[in-house]
Amino acid sequence: MSPISETEVLQHPLPGNSSAPPPADDHKSPSPTARRSVKKLIRRQVQDRSQWFRHGVQAAFAMLNLWLGIQFILWVRYYESAGRTLYVSRPAGVEGWLPIAGTMNTKFLVETRSIPRIHPAAMFLFLAFLLSSLLLKKAFCSWLCPIGTLSELLWKTGEKFFGKSFQLPKWLDLPLRGLKYVLLGFFAFVIGSMSAAALADFLHSPYGMVADVKMLNFFRDLGQTGIIVLVVLLALSFFIRNFWCRYLCPYGALMGLASLLSPAKIRRDAAACIDCGKCARACSANLPVDRLIQIRSVECAACMECIAVCPAQNALQFSLPPRRATEVNDRWRNLVLTPMAVTIVLACMFFGFVGYAKATGHWKTNLPRSLYLELVPNANQLSHPGM
Ligand code: SF4
Ligand code: SF4
Repeated sequence: MSPISETEVLQHPLPGNSSAPPPADDHKSPSPTARRSVKKLIRRQVQDRSQWFRHGVQAAFAMLNLWLGIQFILWVRYYESAGRTLYVSRPAGVEGWLPIAGTMNTKFLVETRSIPRIHPAAMFLFLAFLLSSLLLKKAFCSWLCPIGTLSELLWKTGEKFFGKSFQLPKWLDLPLRGLKYVLLGFFAFVIGSMSAAALADFLHSPYGMVADVKMLNFFRDLGQTGIIVLVVLLALSFFIRNFWCRYLCPYGALMGLASLLSPAKIRRDAAACIDCGKCARACSANLPVDRLIQIRSVECAACMECIAVCPAQNALQFSLPPRRATEVNDRWRNLVLTPMAVTIVLACMFFGFVGYAKATGHWKTNLPRSLYLELVPNANQLSHPGM
């Protein structure tokens, strides 16, 4: 990939007046047969800091989850040892790992207008992440989710090692991408067909009350098949960008669908763009960023990697829809979301929901210790209430 000097002049299609917003249903650049013009690279003046902010947020969230995990394991060990080990209080934030309980509780809230008592934190976290997708595309996946962070770490390591990442052929990529929607559809059908009373029964059952312990036990007692599946997933993640997120994660699928409503999108100014294609090559979702005017795809995780590698001033931006400006010579203006703005909005949503739940006394699942002493050591013996 040869660097483009500031004075290098490139031939590329001109899409017309770049300051005019694209028509609502036309989000692709004109074809290469469209008018051609000689374009000059106007190099960006300010160094991009998006990845610095994003990796900082990812690291902070990963550390938070590690802390929650350690605290939760200590809490479980206390009950498993019949109170002989150090007691630490149960970290409610661990319920962020219970997305099914989160969606069940959200449905319960919508139907009954009352906040559930078992795993309410799962619901508040689910709502915070859903809102972030409604406002900032799938920023949850590339800024907050620890699985997304691990996936990114793996494919970037693989890319460094092999010099490139691999893409599945379209005939395989497309149906595989549908898998996460099949899984999402299954969970949506099951939860959607349960009444509020059935949801409450499920979550108040012994199985529902220690769903978090069962989740931990699943990973502690993986067994041979589980280990093989995990190793295969990890191995595939080295070769294929975000393998788990792209093909299998139903949570990401839901966030992607919500992100269709997001007003913030990656937008390309075709006049400022020099068609170098760096953005498309950097895109972890393999989107043709260099050929689109705005990225509507459910796969866009607002990682801003495309913006980070773009050499041209204002060619790519994460912005709200263009608004008519007041100055005559500046007819349209984008409201740009800087990396700091994204960080602040995400922090506001996360701490806003958590803070509200804590302030109103709805953050923690309050069950007596005597009940946990009975349930936690026997979590593996508890079966699904419907079975
Ligand atoms: S289009 Fe840009 S922000 Fe969206 S996933 Fe690709 S690189 Fe990330
Ligand atoms: S990185 Fe993409 S948007 Fe930026 S100049 Fe190159 S092709 Fe255009």
